[in-house]
Amino acid sequence: MSFSQVLEAVQEGMLLICHASFKKCKEEGLTPEEVITALQKKLGPEGTLMMPTFSYCYLNHPRHRVWDKDETPGVLNGVLSETFRTFPGTVRSNNPTYSVAVSGKYTELLTTGSADNAGLGHGSSYENALKKGAHILLLNVSNNRNSMLHYAEIASGVPYNDIPFREAWGRNALTKDGEMVLIPEYPACSEEFSKFDAEFISMGFAQDLGESMLINATDMVKYICGRINVQKDVMLCSNEECECCRLRRERLKNMGLI
Ligand SMILES: [Zn+2]
Repeated sequence: MSFSQVLEAVQEGMLLICHASFKKCKEEGLTPEEVITALQKKLGPEGTLMMPTFSYCYLNHPRHRVWDKDETPGVLNGVLSETFRTFPGTVRSNNPTYSVAVSGKYTELLTTGSADNAGLGHGSSYENALKKGAHILLLNVSNNRNSMLHYAEIASGVPYNDIPFREAWGRNALTKDGEMVLIPEYPACSEEFSKFDAEFISMGFAQDLGESMLINATDMVKYICGRINVQKDVMLCSNEECECCRLRRERLKNMGLI
């Protein structure tokens, strides 16, 4: 599906969280600026556009970057996100690990008061977006890029979220003002989340847009909480060498939950 066809599914006034790969849009001759402007125009003055600008400024992260919301670039969020981060009118949240960039109606709500949480859990921009009835646009990416699924893990209360993605990164963040203590609700592995692509569409809360997908976040989080309730390790990958999934599965086994 072309970008203009995907855009038809986006409705005026939506709070849209966009995770994207720009490659296909580039092949269509579009620039990142054109894609961002087209999304903003479609959403209109009552709409909101939010993109991840994650920087993973954990204390001992291999990149060892110091968090400064005006300077620290995003890491592997794609060219669209990196363009949007410094786009005129865009505001970035002050979260050292999982910041977001926002424009539109709910900019203030989504970029304030979310600095000292773990990024994708309670008090996060993602939780605030969910409360406002967010939709998620996966633009030429699949659910392994859908960060709201990590929020769903935390909302479900599954007892493993205090185990971080990599213990060696440290549990706190490194900022220009020094070390920052994070709430122990760590987003971890999304390696096998693409298994939900077809499931979400068949459940009726995600719209099939070819290689893209538009998801109702409220229905999705509710659905994932239900799936976790039935199968506690459903979000974990099966790779034995994946540190966090191995430790999280061990925890569930020790608790007699799987
Ligand atoms: Zn894993």
